[in-house]
Amino acid sequence: MAIVPLQPSSVGARLVDWQLELKSAIRDPIQLCRELELPLELAHQAHEGERQFPLFAPRSFVRRIEKGNPCDPLLLQVLPLASESNSSADFTTDPVGDLTATIAPGIIQKYHGRALLIATGACAINCRYCFRRHFPYHEAPKGELAWESSLEVIRSDSSISEVILSGGDPLVLNDAGFQRLVRQIESIGHVERLRIHSRLPIMIPARINSELIQTLQTSRLVAIVVIHCNHANEIDCEVGSAIAQLIEAGIPVLNQSVLLRNVNDNIEALVELSEILVASRVMPYYLNALDRVQGAAHFEVETQKGVELVEEMRTKLPGYAVPRFVTDSTGERSKTILA
Ligand SMILES: *Cc1c(COP(=O)(O)O)cnc(C)c1O
Ligand code: SF4
Repeated sequence: MAIVPLQPSSVGARLVDWQLELKSAIRDPIQLCRELELPLELAHQAHEGERQFPLFAPRSFVRRIEKGNPCDPLLLQVLPLASESNSSADFTTDPVGDLTATIAPGIIQKYHGRALLIATGACAINCRYCFRRHFPYHEAPKGELAWESSLEVIRSDSSISEVILSGGDPLVLNDAGFQRLVRQIESIGHVERLRIHSRLPIMIPARINSELIQTLQTSRLVAIVVIHCNHANEIDCEVGSAIAQLIEAGIPVLNQSVLLRNVNDNIEALVELSEILVASRVMPYYLNALDRVQGAAHFEVETQKGVELVEEMRTKLPGYAVPRFVTDSTGERSKTILA
């Protein structure tokens, strides 16, 4: 899959700071290892996983990785490893049944009242464990005109009161494109809420700029932002200020994480993550069990261990700081709560 981090409409236009950060993201495992003072053999392991789903890591995120530490929990999320080519029969290319739940090009509905819109296939990072590595993004509409016909399915179903912008990462859209998409959704009278699932506030905090805040603040829709942070080290001062801007604009911010082996599968890491989130006024929402996607088997944590970890979190933290441990099972009417 080709990584297209910039929208066609921004070609030729002057790129703003956060777009330059996307453009200068690290894409070469050797360069990543050099900059992080890691043995180059680590980069040479990468080949198989790399071909399918290349390395992509913005510098602002790489700066939060500890130099010289091959086990750094942030590094493991971005560096392709040889273990990605381990095949496992239970790990497939569409583990969560997205293809069967597609109701129009780029629109997935699995649950009552909520429709998920694939705003773009691009992200500000390629997370090694992501189900997205096999998704056929080229089948989703591109550009506002193309969206209009897909949005018809939401317009014609008055039970849909929430639109979830996902992807890829919807905040990879430039300000003008994002605003046009929000305005199109707003024009559907029965839609009340707009949920934005994005890793950009973590990856490139400069993305939270005044244009974006203004689009959300001037919308009649209730906006909710769900960020994706797996480890306390992902939150530095700049991320903290980006989150604060959203919250001060009256936008609730929730977090979802994925339980990942060697990244956050211990009680100290999970408690520390919840504490830093709450200190940043972000509410822990979901801790997702890994989707069983081909190439990610080495990240899996046994469900029973996950349940025990979350039960232990409950003995150490206030109730609001404990995320629900969930899994996404094909054909269910909601996420399945494991703990
Ligand atoms: C996870 C998901 C949602 C959101 O579910 P919530 O429990 O409301 O957070 C909506 N649609 C799809 C297709 C999803 O995968
Ligand atoms: S930001 Fe989200 S959608 Fe994008 S690669 Fe990471 S986990 Fe996948």
